[in-house]
Amino acid sequence: MKVGDKVRMSHPGKRDGEIGIIRAINIPLDSHKHNNVCDPCTCGVHLDINGESWKINKTWVEPVTVTRRTCEFIEVHRKPEEFGLARSIYVPTPSSFYGGWARHQWLKGYFGQECCICSQAFWDVIIERHGQPKTLVEEDGVFRVEE
Ligand SMILES: [Zn+2]
Repeated sequence: MKVGDKVRMSHPGKRDGEIGIIRAINIPLDSHKHNNVCDPCTCGVHLDINGESWKINKTWVEPVTVTRRTCEFIEVHRKPEEFGLARSIYVPTPSSFYGGWARHQWLKGYFGQECCICSQAFWDVIIERHGQPKTLVEEDGVFRVEE
């Protein structure tokens, strides 16, 4: 465990199971000192969970393996005079690392519609026409879009 690592709260009650980022380790916990549990007390870890600040015993957090998936995409909105879907999502041909059906389902889950998988040549055309792709990133179930 080190500063910057992601850890999961494993503590009955509020925020149990949620993931935070370590801001400091080996910090004193007042509750321990007052009860003479240890002196000097360095049992604590300081973490941020969704903007909340938590100081908790180290034994109540566990490291998480960060699952990370990414995919480039280009979102194109239909012009009023055109027919078809209001929005099209174009993605490149999958890489070997994360491709095929799993990626297709993952994209559909996020965008709520089928995505068009482009050949390399068509992908180049789409970029030329609509600009650089954005990247969809999922880390531990949390999605974000990077420009
Ligand atoms: Zn302590």
